[in-house]
Amino acid sequence: MKTFLRLLRLMAPHWEMALLAVLLGFCTIGSNVGLLAASAYLIAWAALHPPILDLMTVTASVRFFGISRAVFRYLERYFSHDVTFRLLSRIRVWFYQHLEPLAPAGLMKYRSGDLLSRIVADVETLKNFYLRILSPPLVALLILALVFTLLARFEMSLAYTLLFFFLLAGLAAPLGIKVLGSRLGQQTVEVRARLHAHLVDSIQGMTEIVAFGQEDRQQTLVNHVSKQLLGLQGKMSVISGLSSSLTGLSMNLAMWTVLVLAIPLVDSGQIKGIYLAMLALATLSSFEAVAPLPLTFPYLAESLAAARRLFEISDARPEVQDAGSLIGKPDRYNLEVTGVSFRYDDESSWVLKDLDFNLPQGGRVAVVGPSGAGKSTLVNLLLRFWEYHQGSIRLGGRELKAYNQEEIRHLIGVVTQRTHLFNATVRENLLLAKPDATQEEMIRAAKGARIHAFIESLPQGYDTYIGEGGFKLSGGQRQRLSIARALLKNAPILILDEATAGLDAVTEKEIMEDIYNLMKGRTTLVITHRMAGLAIIDQIVVLNQGQVVEQGTQEELLHQQGFFRKMWDLSRQVLT
Ligand code: ADP
Repeated sequence: MKTFLRLLRLMAPHWEMALLAVLLGFCTIGSNVGLLAASAYLIAWAALHPPILDLMTVTASVRFFGISRAVFRYLERYFSHDVTFRLLSRIRVWFYQHLEPLAPAGLMKYRSGDLLSRIVADVETLKNFYLRILSPPLVALLILALVFTLLARFEMSLAYTLLFFFLLAGLAAPLGIKVLGSRLGQQTVEVRARLHAHLVDSIQGMTEIVAFGQEDRQQTLVNHVSKQLLGLQGKMSVISGLSSSLTGLSMNLAMWTVLVLAIPLVDSGQIKGIYLAMLALATLSSFEAVAPLPLTFPYLAESLAAARRLFEISDARPEVQDAGSLIGKPDRYNLEVTGVSFRYDDESSWVLKDLDFNLPQGGRVAVVGPSGAGKSTLVNLLLRFWEYHQGSIRLGGRELKAYNQEEIRHLIGVVTQRTHLFNATVRENLLLAKPDATQEEMIRAAKGARIHAFIESLPQGYDTYIGEGGFKLSGGQRQRLSIARALLKNAPILILDEATAGLDAVTEKEIMEDIYNLMKGRTTLVITHRMAGLAIIDQIVVLNQGQVVEQGTQEELLHQQGFFRKMWDLSRQVLT
């Protein structure tokens, strides 16, 4: 019920249009009832050969209802779909707005395919919410009131007959189907989400699947889930078939009962004979309003399950909360990390233990350590992707938590190993760093990253599409774009997170030169597990299993013959 009310609240801004669509739905079916009733009356009366002029009004109403039915149907479809699509786009934006602050910490536990399923399939499922759940019962109620009043004017028993069969087809049948199809809607949503997750996984990992000859296994897995979904959809079809036959049965039984009850009344002169066919056909045609009702509950279950999955995410509290108002730029751009300990959750072990180091303004500090030492975790804390609870991280003398996340991310430029490039033009990918940058600024940044000449050589220059994830670019070009982004952003603090990992030696050397260019005048934190390019670093912090084991310049650390020296020697051995 709570989920239902929340969905209604999401719809609230469109209620006027929704109400209009309901009224139009009523007018459409009302016109149909009118058309059949007026036609039956006309034929019955015409059989008695009255003066042709007497029939004029009825003939006109037949024409009117014939045309109005089509016009109302068109308008009803137009407005009901308009309101549905507005609702869907509102839900998509609303969902994305809630999703974004959760990234990345809050989204770790969801598979990307599952998230995709939520934003695509679950939102799509909600299109039924208005079209098949809210609107049909309201239209049916209005039609019931209309035809009930009409029949009651002749004889109450006819009106009650209608009411009985209406309730049978519109309430008892749907409830029966609800029992039969209980959990079916929810299961369908869950299985479909699983299928999406598998498919996205398979597509993303296509290369690995082929390389390891796992096509058959993956196919079997997808087939298995597909079959489950098919089975559920098959059951749903059986139920919906059953429901339409039940509606048909009730409709015909209602018409026959009205006839059976009305014939003696005609005989006794209580009702004129020319009304007989009209009453029967008005009853019959009114059931058009009941036809969609049996599926209301399955659709409701499906929509509620989808909505619950959406609300689950929208209700999640972002891992990091902003303290309050903006506090503005600091006077200095130095970082002081004191006694920081961190673990991802209360059950897991400590990833960072009592971390201490200082990064003075304009200085260069490298955090070096083997894989799993906690380096990326440190970056996550500095960028406020995760919240730290023990120790202190100060930027410009003020605690990091006091800043707004937006402010922090404005102050810090990041170049990582895996730069995400969007399936857009080079220009759009660069402007991500500074949407209001001028053409000159953008070109200056591209030149600084030595990628300008390459971009110019592309078919459409800066307006060339670079494909999903920038697949039309080499690793080095992607990194250069990333550096150009950082140059364009011009943030006073720079974090280089394994910025040259994964590149070949020649490209790495070239990119390093561009990175030196980028470092000029900026407070720089280098995160790396590699031993290259550390000579220009003022202070190296050696991290192992979340703890600082050594600190000093490259020269000092090499002399110490400690952990750093071991890593250094190992890396030389690997190279030779
Ligand atoms: P590094 O960057 O030095 O390779 P990480 O900071 O990525 O190290 O990882 C340090 C430890 O934290 C590892 O043991 C890793 O398993 C764990 N870890 C990293 N990310 C998460 C996460 N999102 N949730 C739980 N544990 C994590």
